[in-house]
Amino acid sequence: MTAKTPITQDLVTIPRKEKKGEKTNLVGLTRGALQEALIAAGIPERQGKMRAGQVWQWMYQKGVRSFDQMTNLGKELRVRLAETCEIRVPEVVTRQISEDGTRKYLVRIAGGHEVEVVYIPEENRGTLCISSQVGCTLTCSFCHTGTQKLVRNLTAAEIIGQVMIARDDLGEWPKPGVPNPPEARLLSNIVLMGMGEPLYNFENVRDAMKIAMDPEGISLSRRRITLSTSGVVPEIARTAQEIGCLLAVSFHATTDEIRDKLVPINKRWNLETLLAALRAYPKASNSERITFEYVMLKGVNDSDEDAHRLVQLIKGIPAKINLIPFNEWPGSPYERSSNNRIRAFGDIVNAAGYASPVRKPRGEDIMAACGQLRSETERARKSRAQIAKEAGI
Ligand code: SAH
Ligand code: SF4
Repeated sequence: MTAKTPITQDLVTIPRKEKKGEKTNLVGLTRGALQEALIAAGIPERQGKMRAGQVWQWMYQKGVRSFDQMTNLGKELRVRLAETCEIRVPEVVTRQISEDGTRKYLVRIAGGHEVEVVYIPEENRGTLCISSQVGCTLTCSFCHTGTQKLVRNLTAAEIIGQVMIARDDLGEWPKPGVPNPPEARLLSNIVLMGMGEPLYNFENVRDAMKIAMDPEGISLSRRRITLSTSGVVPEIARTAQEIGCLLAVSFHATTDEIRDKLVPINKRWNLETLLAALRAYPKASNSERITFEYVMLKGVNDSDEDAHRLVQLIKGIPAKINLIPFNEWPGSPYERSSNNRIRAFGDIVNAAGYASPVRKPRGEDIMAACGQLRSETERARKSRAQIAKEAGI
């Protein structure tokens, strides 16, 4: 394995105000920061909290993007806010709709970078898969995003902005006087399973998810948000304490030898260390169970022995095993396990008492399935030979 993997957290996040004189974007600010921003914009200090609450509701409960529409703020105040502040979400560049109804949005963020967001409709609910970084520092050898170098972390505004633009597209901001209970929503769940490693962008992901959970706004329960990590162990306990959402882990292998190749962060925090952190999670976060994601790669990690080892390893952890048929991408060095193999693997896991649903690939025709995301505009692409070499295969 070449020493490419700079497993580092020293990533650049663009400052909120990129240039002097640029307006302050109110999206993505915590309640406290929103209050400060409004005071800086000239709102009397004693009104800060109340005004922040009003603006918050306009932005996140009603989906309003212009101060003009904020009718419970005085006219003069609205004009003043419009002069120095803005409500800016990422720009949707393209929207593709798959045969199965899955929607993929390519969105552009500051700096001209692009990330992908996927909406997966299901019966009586719908899941939005959002991105946390442009590219990824990690180099999981089966993942398309892993072939793209990290460009930068997304800001909290860009993370929650993905939810806002999806709600725009789905027409899902409540009409005045009509309640919009989460149970009946088109966008009822969020998964942080798009591009990037969310735990290497912890603060921004946390702030954005706090906004998604806020009862006076988008109002999704923490049990409807799932964060998927490749195994950034030191941040797992923090996720429980500071976000409290459900956790999914990209497990994918049952020996350190294989996991080192598939998920190279394993060389930093191996299976034993990871499992110890996972054991503590459900209690710390008060969540029901952890989802173990397991990508099915023909002849690599899909044997009966692997299935038996898996159930031994996770013994005692409240868990669900999500079997993910490998989704191929141009240049990918692996093949998908056969349906029979996936079934046999699932049966073993199931017999040990764990639910083992097979994740149905969605939106494959538009390259929206797990691990297929990357922005084609980012040209820092590795060759097939380089990918295979780094995977040690
Ligand atoms: N970086 C985070 C979240 C994004 S990846 C993480 O690694 O957990 C979301 C899920 O898709 C992960 O479980 C990842 O391992 C899986 N995945 C990546 N590439 C895939 C592929 N080509 N086929 C199937 N699943 C893939
Ligand atoms: Fe990054 Fe997750 Fe892909 Fe690994 S699987 S390269 S951590 S996005």
